[in-house]
Amino acid sequence: MHYFIFLSALFWTAVSHALIWTINRTILEEILPSGVTVEELTQILELEGIDVFYESPSESLLWKGNWVSISLASAPFAPYHLWIAVDGRQTLDACTKDELTELYEAIWRGKKALAETIGADSFMIFTTEEPRIGKGSFLEIGIIPSGFGKSRGVMDAVEKNALNEYVFYNQFSKQSVIQSPKTIAAIREKLQDLQPAVQPEIPQGRWTQKLTHHREALHQNLQSIHDTLAELGALIDGEMPPLPIKEDAVHEIQIDLDRCAFCNPKVIEKQIVCDWGDIQILMSHKPTSPSGNFLILPKRHQCAWDLTKEEAIASFEAVIALKKLVLESAESNHWICYIQDGPAVGQTVPHTHIHFFLLPDPLKYAISGIQHIHNQRPILSYEEMRTACEEIRPLLLKQLEKSK
Ligand SMILES: [Zn+2]
Repeated sequence: MHYFIFLSALFWTAVSHALIWTINRTILEEILPSGVTVEELTQILELEGIDVFYESPSESLLWKGNWVSISLASAPFAPYHLWIAVDGRQTLDACTKDELTELYEAIWRGKKALAETIGADSFMIFTTEEPRIGKGSFLEIGIIPSGFGKSRGVMDAVEKNALNEYVFYNQFSKQSVIQSPKTIAAIREKLQDLQPAVQPEIPQGRWTQKLTHHREALHQNLQSIHDTLAELGALIDGEMPPLPIKEDAVHEIQIDLDRCAFCNPKVIEKQIVCDWGDIQILMSHKPTSPSGNFLILPKRHQCAWDLTKEEAIASFEAVIALKKLVLESAESNHWICYIQDGPAVGQTVPHTHIHFFLLPDPLKYAISGIQHIHNQRPILSYEEMRTACEEIRPLLLKQLEKSK
């Protein structure tokens, strides 16, 4: 009995010491109702055993190289969401080789530092030239670690919709993101110590992708089709089906890591647009738009984004060339490029690849979303694919030569 009480007391002490609230003082002062002061609130919280830390935006810088910096996102989608920027550069093509090299190192550092401090095993890494929340009008690369939302480890289709909406369309409902100053200090320290080096692949066994809340995600996509048709005046009458109430089923996808699609010569032969140094550029086998959906991948089998400097620079050149290609062919700069690094953010082929695509119209995106969940997105035939790739090949090679 005494032993139990002792243990309980020990547990309580440990818990009461661990409570830290980090508060953005600027926002707090804006929202405090009249009659409440910061000091009063702090006193009350401390009385309840909570240590209060006030953070100002200037503390968000985590690492600074010669030209590149890593900061905490000012409007984070998830805890420890990082933004990597290159001083004064608005686009990738404005960067020098040295700046691109440091950018590659910064992405590598950011990812590893998050893995080693918060234990994230999956990352959404993305960039676009579109203006967006938390990003200035300059070049920035975002790294969003997995573990956002409630379903750590299991991918929630509704959260995936939210992540895609943020990454693709910059639609973002502000979430309460709690970040501990201790962890931020640990990330900062890690970023100084890490030295980029390609690490040997560790065998990963089998991947199982577990997905929850399928029906709710389908309902969201259907709602968006409904809203678009109504907004355009095309929908005369039509109600939405009720929101699914109970969803216990976990949808599982088994991925056999020994059978890598991007190491299969038949896949490459069908989808290749062209080779570029240590990388190759493929067309997606289920393109969302006819000439604007590509994959950039190293020739070497590599699962996570653990690229050599040469592979990374060639990948940046490929992004620049594709951007210029779509600017000329589709007269659009509404592209996005992203890497789903790890199963929790939706990576399905265990061979690292950058998706580059011209953003489809939201109606097309909602349709693709439903097709994707039902695994019914149309796949191009061998002949259709080869015709499309051969058409683009000379145009892309011309842009690649210029991007060197
Ligand atoms: Zn492979």
